[in-house]
Amino acid sequence: MKIITSIPEVQTEIRKHRKQGQTIGFVPTMGALHQGHLSLAETCRKENDITVVSIFVNPAQFGPNEDFEKYPRDFQKDESMLKELGVDLIFYPAKDEIYPPGYCTYVEVEKLGQVLCGKSRPTHFSGVATVVLKLFNIIKPDRAYFGRKDAQQAVLVKRMVKELNVDVIIKALPIVRDHDGLALSSRNVYLSPAEREAALHLPQALIQAREQIQAGLKDAAQIKSVIETGLKNIPLLTVDYVEVVTLDRLEAFPVTPGGQLIDNNNTLVAAAVKVGKTRLIDNFILGEI
Ligand code: AMP
Repeated sequence: MKIITSIPEVQTEIRKHRKQGQTIGFVPTMGALHQGHLSLAETCRKENDITVVSIFVNPAQFGPNEDFEKYPRDFQKDESMLKELGVDLIFYPAKDEIYPPGYCTYVEVEKLGQVLCGKSRPTHFSGVATVVLKLFNIIKPDRAYFGRKDAQQAVLVKRMVKELNVDVIIKALPIVRDHDGLALSSRNVYLSPAEREAALHLPQALIQAREQIQAGLKDAAQIKSVIETGLKNIPLLTVDYVEVVTLDRLEAFPVTPGGQLIDNNNTLVAAAVKVGKTRLIDNFILGEI
């Protein structure tokens, strides 16, 4: 497994594989890897000749009062996990390699970047879109793999790729959960035992909503209210948002005589909470990103 930190070097290495007719699969990450990331890398390996994983804690996607400095970093552990999996190349650039001094070009995905998580993190998705496009331009992958845990991110990246004519196939893979049901996240290490207890109400509330949908509930407002009820009065937990929106446009469903009825092939049910200082997100999807 090669570890490359410079852009020209990684481009030379990729070019070499391309000349040999090999396909390139790419998994962008911020490191502090867990089974969620590894599931992406595993699928990437199966579907491509060469698997590239990037590890870059992207400053552009953190707000001024967020956890950029504190974000967990453990390159040695990440490296051994990826080596064991048979990953071919880690791209591990420094901050200045990606954003040299004076850097000033950013990508904006209107609307999709302003709703859901974008409301409380107004610059986040511009930072995501910018780094993802830069990484696509550097690696030029055939396929790139994202997790549905960050459903809004996957929807937005897919739209950016379509609208900017980037020649890459985006794959969005299922959420990987811990034994207790909490979606795996690098930020889970911040949680105290009591906070983790509180955090479990998030997947549980979503399961309840999903069960109600399976039993026939179609009204978006009622689905939202099932989740809000499940998250009410939980010590240490505050709700950022609960949303039931169309999966392709992240918009509210149109009002009909029966209410705002969800579409079983195009619905995202998503929620974000804060447990102590830690922001957690979770969702389920009806349909395909
Ligand atoms: P991050 O390192 O948090 O930027 O995540 C890198 C990629 O891993 C993103 O595409 C995430 O959606 C994905 N990912 C993170 N956690 C999970 C999870 N629990 N299950 C599936 N994918 C995940």
